[in-house]
Amino acid sequence: MKLLTISVPAYNEETMIVPLYERVVEVMDQVKESYTFELLFINDGSKDGTLDQMKALHEKDNRVVYVDLSRNYGKEVAMAAGFDYAKGDALVTMDADLQHPPEVILEMLKLWELGYEDVYAKRNRREGETWLKKATSKLYYRILQKVARIPVLPDAGDFRLLDKRCVEALKQMRESNRYTKGLYSWIGFKKNRSSVRCCPSL
Ligand code: UDP
Ligand code: MG
Repeated sequence: MKLLTISVPAYNEETMIVPLYERVVEVMDQVKESYTFELLFINDGSKDGTLDQMKALHEKDNRVVYVDLSRNYGKEVAMAAGFDYAKGDALVTMDADLQHPPEVILEMLKLWELGYEDVYAKRNRREGETWLKKATSKLYYRILQKVARIPVLPDAGDFRLLDKRCVEALKQMRESNRYTKGLYSWIGFKKNRSSVRCCPSL
């Protein structure tokens, strides 16, 4: 039995914690013969009832655990806390607002079993974005590629599965001003080239 950590940074997400939990349970039930999971929430200094929701779920289901940051540090630092506290053989990092569909985790697990250590989801289309947003995004990545010594993948977001070895490598990086997308590339490891397609709104 392998343990999968599902790490979720959350800032003012009180209405999303329970729906996300329910979707995750539904998905992980489908593979319960092979995997157990821990749902690791990082409360990033929320001002609403997010922490109470996490506490209540933890009382009910001990697969739910949480880290409560002392203030709002921003998503990148909250994700780093997730790497620090994860116990899994692999970790999936995803947003709390269900813009990353939990069902995609099943596909990610298959690729992990094939030997990929960094499985990333790529958005299908940049739906709902203006031409200006699309154009500036393209330009941003083109400039980034010129100045960075490592390739950073355009359109690949923070919805990904990382093998424990990647998580260990990321834990060595203690930058506080983090650009995690760049760090994923920096650490190397075997990445899936034909990315998992998903999420117009990744
Ligand atoms: N988030 C966080 N700290 C923040 C802002 C956001 O932990 O200061 C979390 C948020 O709760 C969500 C994820 O980061 O789980 C992505 O945030 P959001 O949906 O606002 O970003 P976008 O959809 O624009 O990428
Ligand atoms: Mg969002």
